[in-house]
Amino acid sequence: MLKLQNYINGVLTPPASQHYFQSLNPATGKAHAEVPDSDARDVDMACVAAEAAFLKWRDLGHEKRAAYLIRLAQLIETHAARLAHAESVDNGKPLKLAQHVDIPRAAANFNFYGTGILHYASESHAMEGMALNYTLRQAVGVVGCISPWNLPLYLFSWKIAPALAAGCTVVAKPSEITPYTAFLLSELCIEAGFPPGVLNIVHGYGQRCGDAIVRHPLIKAISFTGGTATGKHIAAVAAPEFKKLSLELGGKNANIIFEDCDFEAMLKTTLLSSFSNQGQICLCGSRILIQRSIYSTFERAFIDAVKRLKVGDPLNAETQIGAIVSKSHFEKILSYIELAKTEGGTVLCGGSALKLDGACAQGLFIAPTVISGLSPGCRVNQEEIFGPVVTLIPFDTEAEALAIANGTPYGLASTLWTSDLKRAHRVAAALHTGIVWVNCWLLRDLRTPFGGVKGSGVGREGGFEALDFFTEPKNVCIKL
Ligand code: NDP
Repeated sequence: MLKLQNYINGVLTPPASQHYFQSLNPATGKAHAEVPDSDARDVDMACVAAEAAFLKWRDLGHEKRAAYLIRLAQLIETHAARLAHAESVDNGKPLKLAQHVDIPRAAANFNFYGTGILHYASESHAMEGMALNYTLRQAVGVVGCISPWNLPLYLFSWKIAPALAAGCTVVAKPSEITPYTAFLLSELCIEAGFPPGVLNIVHGYGQRCGDAIVRHPLIKAISFTGGTATGKHIAAVAAPEFKKLSLELGGKNANIIFEDCDFEAMLKTTLLSSFSNQGQICLCGSRILIQRSIYSTFERAFIDAVKRLKVGDPLNAETQIGAIVSKSHFEKILSYIELAKTEGGTVLCGGSALKLDGACAQGLFIAPTVISGLSPGCRVNQEEIFGPVVTLIPFDTEAEALAIANGTPYGLASTLWTSDLKRAHRVAAALHTGIVWVNCWLLRDLRTPFGGVKGSGVGREGGFEALDFFTEPKNVCIKL
């Protein structure tokens, strides 16, 4: 079985505890890798290495740092087939999705920040005849990057790339559930000739290894993507130490469909925004709000399309819906479907686990599920399920749609479908979310600010926002 190792000070390193735990392929139920069970000792080694590497890496200059990142992007592209396979086996996602989305995006993240840093500039403020102020943007130092299991390499690299580009050195932890591609990334860093200590990858459980990163005194900033409860805990630990925090957390996104929308385009995209990656994308629209005049037409057409989605072996090219990432998450999703029934919901399709044949007989599969008849305030419509489960909610007026869409503790993303341009602008401005898509979904320009409000987090990733996060502005005032 594959034995993963930490990547500390440029070297593949076993955990101090010498303990490993198994990583399971959720589509087959079989173990495919052993993962280092790292603790505070490994994190400390990684932080010390990162601290020792910091000044040299920062002072290398942005052009040379950029060259390393671009080289890493090229290596990801060269090894894309192996990385996509690893992502699918580790996470249960369709191989096709990993090939077309996850891995190309990981390469794009390194390319984007490798080239982005070449264009990153700071301001100057002239006080005519008196003084000149200029802003130095200096890398904050050693930073911690902690990422979740749903888009493993995609989100891991989305943090690491800007941190390294800005001149920080990094101690990073992927989710213990999906560590495989982060391990392969460490091999690629070695192949790219990364200086030792610049990037350190430590594997292990969040509550031991992740917590040690958050608490370590050498860590000056933490970029975290994951659940809202974990984010709250991290904020409580890091705030008294005055560490910089970027928190990208959960969501309960609304997909608002007005009667004047382009129905065919909306239906096609709504299928994707509901069930891509088994509904395990923080941006998926899990609450579908439909104007009452087209509600029955929508329900019929949507259910018909959902029933035709192909759930199956993630390695099969025909598969559209793969396995749920872990047993505990699988059980959590099923428990929400049961809760929906007790809250008065009607399961229109799906609603249960699926048993497949052959290699996937022990896999964790759930039929794409659509539920109607729930009140907007019930738990199923308020809490993040993060699986292939959506609810349908009718509305009459724009004001009612807005009240329902904004009526949760979350505020990550929303989608709206309308042909009325004035309404699009009006509703987009009134939605309490960090991201609004109009007549599209998951159309991403990496230059745009990315993040949520309320329980969906604080801070923004993307574009220069991430470079701002990983640097401290310092004003220098020179008297003329
Ligand atoms: P978790 O919050 O459980 O875990 C995220 C990461 O944090 C993992 O690496 C985890 O390690 C680690 N971790 C857990 N506990 C601690 C701790 N006490 N201190 C430090 N690190 C810790 O989230 P999931 O992995 O379950 O991911 C799903 C969540 O992520 C969903 O809520 C989803 O909405 C959100 N998400 C948000 C996105 C956004 O951009 N806003 C994008 C993608 C997902 P381990 O796995 O070992 O527990």
